[in-house]
Amino acid sequence: MGELMNCPRCDALFVSGVRSICQDCYKEEERAYTTVYNYLRPRKNRQATIPEIVEATGVDEEIIYKFIKEKRLRPSQFPNLTYPCDRCGTMISDGNLCNNCLTEMQADLDEQRKLDEIARRNQQNVQEANTYYTVEKKQ
Ligand SMILES: [Zn+2]
Ligand SMILES: [Zn+2]
Repeated sequence: MGELMNCPRCDALFVSGVRSICQDCYKEEERAYTTVYNYLRPRKNRQATIPEIVEATGVDEEIIYKFIKEKRLRPSQFPNLTYPCDRCGTMISDGNLCNNCLTEMQADLDEQRKLDEIARRNQQNVQEANTYYTVEKKQ
């Protein structure tokens, strides 16, 4: 079952279980969620950005990011709810990385795969290495 640990938010000792934060912080987060949600609900506030929400509700932006990552606040409903990419800090509304970082990481992976492939081929028999093809250039 649960074991005693320090709450990552307020450092209080609590018994960990379903929640990763203590009861007090949990209650506080729920209150923050209700505050933020009530603020966003009217049509005129749906386009609000995080700084505007922080300003209007006094809720910490980290907590709002958490709600978005947990999909409790959906960018499909509130289009300007964005949070920073884990890698470069660009504002995003889905996943943990922005498109650029995703592309870059994919490119790194592809590069690594190519190098692996070359190393693998080099180890293949020498006969194959002696065969090469020339491509006729169109003038
Ligand atoms: Zn706590
Ligand atoms: Zn990024």
